[in-house]
Amino acid sequence: MFALPPAPPVSPLVVVRPFAPAPHNWLPAHRGVDLEARRGQAVVAPRPGRIVFADRIAARPVLVLKSGVVRFTFEPVRARVTVGQRLQPGQVLGRVETGGHCDGRCLHWGAKVDGQYVDPLSFLPRPRPVLKPLSALAFRPAAVPVPPGARARFPPVRSPADSASP
Ligand SMILES: [Zn+2]
Repeated sequence: MFALPPAPPVSPLVVVRPFAPAPHNWLPAHRGVDLEARRGQAVVAPRPGRIVFADRIAARPVLVLKSGVVRFTFEPVRARVTVGQRLQPGQVLGRVETGGHCDGRCLHWGAKVDGQYVDPLSFLPRPRPVLKPLSALAFRPAAVPVPPGARARFPPVRSPADSASP
């Protein structure tokens, strides 16, 4: 059997909240990516694997697909598969449901390798998807550092004392 190429879990692939891990597990973080989706939208397996979990966690339906050393999580997703089922990329896992921070407006997609959260987008081929912040999810982009010398391009700020001189 030939290997199917990786598939984005939802199409089109639009990131509304990026992966934002924390340096320590107890700190707040976003341990996955949120992809633009609507309730009822089909979610497919991004890589070949086996369903190892399909149940509710804290009132939201969660699916886990094990693909080699990677554990992919999808939530909130109502399962159309059962634990133990093997899937190929592009095969439907389930449909976007309500619950969790996405709550019917997006798909939270996580990836874990050896107990560490990693960016799930790294398992898809380039080009990288569009990044479209969704204000409803209170996405706050990280501060962009100002490179040295960047301020030299702007004219010097005049103090009121300068213009008030006779
Ligand atoms: Zn999320």
